[in-house]
Amino acid sequence: MLELSRVVLGRALYDYVETPAFEDTELFARGVGESTDVVQKEMFTFEDKAGRSLTLRPEGTASICRAYVEHGMHKRAQPVKVWYWGPFFRHEAPQAGRFRQFAQVGAEVLGTDEPTADAELILLLAELLDAAGCREVRLRVSSLGNPATRSAYRAELREWLRPRESELSEPVRARLDLNPLRAFDSDDPGTQAVMAEAPTLLDRLTDEDAAHFAEVRALLDSAGLEYGVDPGLVRGLDYYTRTVFEFESGVLGAQAALGGGGRYDGLVELLGGPPTPGVGWAAGIERILLAADPPEDTGGDDGQRIFVAVAKPERRAEAFELVSELRGRLVEADLDHTTRSLKGQLKQADRVGAHYTVIMGETTEFKDMRTGDQREMAVADVLKKFGDG
Ligand code: AMP
Repeated sequence: MLELSRVVLGRALYDYVETPAFEDTELFARGVGESTDVVQKEMFTFEDKAGRSLTLRPEGTASICRAYVEHGMHKRAQPVKVWYWGPFFRHEAPQAGRFRQFAQVGAEVLGTDEPTADAELILLLAELLDAAGCREVRLRVSSLGNPATRSAYRAELREWLRPRESELSEPVRARLDLNPLRAFDSDDPGTQAVMAEAPTLLDRLTDEDAAHFAEVRALLDSAGLEYGVDPGLVRGLDYYTRTVFEFESGVLGAQAALGGGGRYDGLVELLGGPPTPGVGWAAGIERILLAADPPEDTGGDDGQRIFVAVAKPERRAEAFELVSELRGRLVEADLDHTTRSLKGQLKQADRVGAHYTVIMGETTEFKDMRTGDQREMAVADVLKKFGDG
């Protein structure tokens, strides 16, 4: 997956960046949002020896924005396109597809509000999920407009929900004042029934925001990417503006989200930088692997993977040397590091997907694992077969 990400994102000229595994708690409290589940319940927060509050990173965007400001990336030619990969931490109840430490790949574009950036990012994640072999992938998109529209809509929704409060689930009721939009996220059937009738933010967008959203969709349409517009799509983080999107897999069960993201035009400024639009996504590696067809490790059909079996213990050092020589010729090679029987070693050669096995016993035998053909071959000739080094 790491290699795949490098290829797919590198091809679109995204640069790889790494940020620290922990940051000041304040960064996430402000950058992710006080009203979110992540900040309220899911952060691993601790004090260092100097009494500062630190937090294991629960997500990547806030750190990228911090780095953008701290390292003066706003002074570079815009936009800045970066991708990252690494461990993230959330204090959640572990279950299938949900862990307290998990890996994410993410991509961000800072310094442009053009819809092409939004569409490019969505298409890149679609490409990555497809290349990873994810099954039954669905994409939902929406727009959250700008902060003013959103806060007016939030007030409207709160008022609309208040007379229906008794039909809402307890957690939704508890957050009605702080963030009524999260009611759209609820899996409680009563709440869902109420929300199906609720006014939507999409109907309240300004002309500018609606045009931005229409352009993003037009770009996705012309790229032939299928998606559904979901007015109830509310991403878990507070800072999104305009475009939001989420990819899910139908084979994942309860934790169906593969990855998602959106635009966060106010975030860099919120974190102390100059006003800078941004857009990005993050995807969960474990979920991607769970949603993908099981990998086959054959070393490829036309590969040249070699396994060296040692049938005579005295030849172990020679086998070791042969493997080093082969690797020096850029051939994938390994020897058996145990003292299992020859039969066991041949089984191991199969398990590692070897195309050829060299058997070092009284004589040296060269076996083609695909045809089963086996003949005597001097070690020097094996080496010759795989280049002169
Ligand atoms: P989020 O920023 O919450 O949308 O997370 C982005 C992606 O990371 C999700 O779509 C999941 O694929 C993955 N993810 C989030 N939380 C977890 C977790 N606790 N365990 C495993 N994967 C996760």
